[in-house]
Amino acid sequence: MNTIASGHTKVHGKHGEFALEAKGLVKRFKSGRSYVEVLKGVDFDARHGDLTMVMGPSGSGKSTLIAALSGLLRPEEGRVDALDVDDLWKLSGGRIDKFRLDHCGFIFQGFNLFPALSALQQVTTVLKYQGLSPEKAKKRAALALEEVGLGHRLHQRPAALSGGEKQRVAIARALAKDPQILFADEPTSALDGENGQVVIRLLRRAATEHGAAVICVTHDPRLEAWADRVIHIEDGVIIDDQRRTPNPEAILASH
Ligand code: ADP
Ligand code: MG
Repeated sequence: MNTIASGHTKVHGKHGEFALEAKGLVKRFKSGRSYVEVLKGVDFDARHGDLTMVMGPSGSGKSTLIAALSGLLRPEEGRVDALDVDDLWKLSGGRIDKFRLDHCGFIFQGFNLFPALSALQQVTTVLKYQGLSPEKAKKRAALALEEVGLGHRLHQRPAALSGGEKQRVAIARALAKDPQILFADEPTSALDGENGQVVIRLLRRAATEHGAAVICVTHDPRLEAWADRVIHIEDGVIIDDQRRTPNPEAILASH
């Protein structure tokens, strides 16, 4: 349980409980005079405490799936039940945005940091927007950055940080608000093996220690060993869905 300064108490789902269930998602994009179906009736779910990996070739619909699940891109058909919300896409735009702000964290391949802000400011900005006082936001942001090993880089702007450090800032920013659902879209693609490992360890921890439902889209097969579940998507269709026991030590030993 975690009390945030805006006054309400956030109750996290328990490990193993559904954080998200989607049924029959269809997404089409206009292409010339016709439409291309990018999600072809996808059923998807994710549980608290799980690191759920979604793998598939480029263009298979992974980013579109994340966008449809998180309220960023409206699907033409299907529904998404998330936390205590039935049918997310039935909410008004403002309430969808609020749901995302309150409960979801995002990590992207390109980091998506504000160029003019220091590492500390990247994180405090989001927390203040959520209603924390400036002092509390600063304290909590510094803690989040320490947790990802950046306690010594608080006042650097992105231009002065390495790729791995930038992604750790993005992770601190996503985790500082203790999200129930964490979406990561190719979070290691721009990173070398070592920095990729740091990132995947942090995602693993977000699931195991914070109980977040972590949904990580990737085409990096090295990440598979860290997952509780691996889903394969091809051409807008889920073709495989396997539960597995994460075995991070095996991959460590192989490096
Ligand atoms: P992935 O993340 O697996 O690489 P995407 O979900 O980004 O795949 O894209 C799936 C397909 O949808 C691709 O063919 C892509 O070109 C197309 N697509 C994605 N976004 C749009 C858009 N906004 N408009 C038109 N086509 C799009
Ligand atoms: Mg993508």
